[in-house]
Amino acid sequence: MFKKILIANRGEIALRIQRACRELGVKSVVVYSEADRDAKYVRLADEAVCIGPAPSSKSYLSMPAIIATAEVTDAEAIHPGYGFLSENADFAERVERSGFTFIGPTSENIRMMGDKVSAKQAMIKAGVPCVPGSEGALPDDPKEIIKIARQVGYPVIIKAAGGGGGRGMRVVHTEAALVNAVQMTRTEAGAAFGNPEVYMEKFLENPRHVEIQVLADGFKNAVWLGERDCSMQRRHQKIIEEAPAPGIPRRVIEKVGDRCAAACKKMGYRGAGTFEFLYENGEFYFIEMNTRVQVEHPVTEMVTGIDIVQMQIRIAAGEKLPFTQRNIEMRGHAIECRINAEDPVKFVPSPGRITTWHAPGGPGVRVDSHAYTNYFVPPHYDSMIGKIICHGDTREQALARMRIALSETVVEGIQTNIPLHRELMVDAKFVEGGTSIHYLEGWMAQHK
Ligand code: ADP
Repeated sequence: MFKKILIANRGEIALRIQRACRELGVKSVVVYSEADRDAKYVRLADEAVCIGPAPSSKSYLSMPAIIATAEVTDAEAIHPGYGFLSENADFAERVERSGFTFIGPTSENIRMMGDKVSAKQAMIKAGVPCVPGSEGALPDDPKEIIKIARQVGYPVIIKAAGGGGGRGMRVVHTEAALVNAVQMTRTEAGAAFGNPEVYMEKFLENPRHVEIQVLADGFKNAVWLGERDCSMQRRHQKIIEEAPAPGIPRRVIEKVGDRCAAACKKMGYRGAGTFEFLYENGEFYFIEMNTRVQVEHPVTEMVTGIDIVQMQIRIAAGEKLPFTQRNIEMRGHAIECRINAEDPVKFVPSPGRITTWHAPGGPGVRVDSHAYTNYFVPPHYDSMIGKIICHGDTREQALARMRIALSETVVEGIQTNIPLHRELMVDAKFVEGGTSIHYLEGWMAQHK
């Protein structure tokens, strides 16, 4: 096991990684920007190093600053968390070339999954079901593009190979609009991601977002830890996640889960990862793979009892997976609400000082948050200030616990989306389970 790990992130995930290190008996170094000086994990840290001013480009995205800090503090490994540099293949490479362990997959695997065209081709090869579409990047010839779209069938979606964060996509309903839409997406993708390559998929009209969590070690062992339903989204941003996904037959999920684990073995994948799928009419369609820990990992931890962050660290330290697929059991149901510092109606960020912070508690309630009374939420970063996760023997019990937890939670001084969560937890359709990725936006339009 490592003696010391550098945590190259901020917010709740920095605290989460710090806790995992403590439990493993590993010392941790946190890096922070000038805006995060007063963060809880900085105060609690074994060692903390300020790496630059507030803007991420000068701190959390500064590879030289982070690697230099690892050098001066004698850290052996770097945990990138999520966001920032976590899926940057060049960073993984530089970390390893500087003599440190990158807690994550190989840079080759990160690069392959970062390009959605090569990711999809790898999945097709590994037998993971994908959305029907162009096999690979779209050609230049308009006639060819029209031919492909006819085969796929309208509506289609044009997506940038280098896209991410829900950007670089365009839905096309008619042939008349096709060639122009492809051209526009190419131009935008070139400007935004430095890669003008685009591909085409059938546009699924009413899918759910269901993802599979995997863990793989460096010895070609791979398991999947069940699924998560993350369909409650606004502008492609997830706000509620749960495990298991309500109403989907287990054998359908088992089949796709086994394919994901097999794909990991085939790729030589190492560490934690997530295969994201759209689920419609009883079928799974792969859309992308995330090669890092996800925000919503706690719901999987609550139902499987496996600590995903500790597993990432143990795998990076060269340990073998301590279990096989047969040992993995899902117990009960877990739901997570992401608490964002934002206006619950208009969704504009609401940074500032938290004058009262009272977190909920009780059976089956977990709060992952770096916030506290008198904490100043800086305006420079993501607005998520924490997550409430509730577990129960059944979905009903998990929901009941979440309602109670939300009613106990007090956050004053800034606005949060807690009122929205309170309403959604009693919404008839959500309570029934199985709403699509468009549900929340439709619901908001009605509730204005
Ligand atoms: P990103 O990396 O930008 O998040 P994804 O490929 O994961 O891109 O797609 C983001 C979202 O776009 C999906 O969650 C879904 O809402 C929508 N989407 C992507 N592909 C399709 C598709 N083929 N049909 C319908 N919706 C899609």
